[in-house]
Amino acid sequence: MFLEDWHTHNKLCRHAEGTIEDYIKKAIEINLDLIGISDHFPYEYLENSPVSIEEVPYHEYAMRLNEVDSYLSSIEKLKIKYNNDIQIRTAFEIDYFRSHEVNLEKEFYSRVDKLDYILGSVHVLHGKSKLFAFDDRRFLSMYKEYESIDSIYLEYYHKLQHMINSEKFNFDILSHFDLPKKYNKRANNKELVMNEAIKTLELAKKADLTIEINTGGLRKEINEQYPSEEIIKEIFNLDISVLLASDAHHPNDLAYEFNKMLKLLKKIGYNQLAHFNKRKRTFIEI
Ligand SMILES: [Zn+2]
Ligand SMILES: [Zn+2]
Repeated sequence: MFLEDWHTHNKLCRHAEGTIEDYIKKAIEINLDLIGISDHFPYEYLENSPVSIEEVPYHEYAMRLNEVDSYLSSIEKLKIKYNNDIQIRTAFEIDYFRSHEVNLEKEFYSRVDKLDYILGSVHVLHGKSKLFAFDDRRFLSMYKEYESIDSIYLEYYHKLQHMINSEKFNFDILSHFDLPKKYNKRANNKELVMNEAIKTLELAKKADLTIEINTGGLRKEINEQYPSEEIIKEIFNLDISVLLASDAHHPNDLAYEFNKMLKLLKKIGYNQLAHFNKRKRTFIEI
């Protein structure tokens, strides 16, 4: 059986430990068949845009725009160096901001031919008083600006829906689908939030996206993978493909709890996982 980890970071993003090569060596050591290098894409394309990006410490969230080319070329070199040991994929995790796809296009889409896949993510909401980086602990006090946790979930799912519907922002894999739960923040009106989640999943199906099973949540207060088992069942019922992702920010996080996830996915009914190469999807058996 193949073991593949499709979501990893490294020290270029300023909040993860270890070089790209450290992650590759660790992946080989633990017998992974594939590692996807998918560090955070820079936020500088949002400078000089109507989004007040300086309201969040974006310099600690991602590499600089002038580091993108060396990021891509160093992965190419490592692919050659470790060719006999492991498959390596080139990717970015990109944060979606409504209506700023045009700048992203200018800064980014010329480089897109080097990528094997793109993770589409939402980590920052528009917020009530200013931008709200809801998965950054320093913004925890801003949760009370909302009337309830449910309205944060709704804003989050609306933003995911915009990202999926955007004609300019194209991506392959939807990241950490229920991220607002990170700090142990469950929805109050479960039915209301679940309905919005299902609406989002239906759009993801129509857009033929893959959704990651992200074990980062198992290392956070919520102590549960993204998304919940209940949502994974909906994903399965909609016949949407999935893959495994550790969201590693340290080499020791690689393939975190993947055996547990494989058991869960098989129990739900999955017998294959998605796999990407040059933005084309195929499948591996599990
Ligand atoms: Zn990160
Ligand atoms: Zn993320």
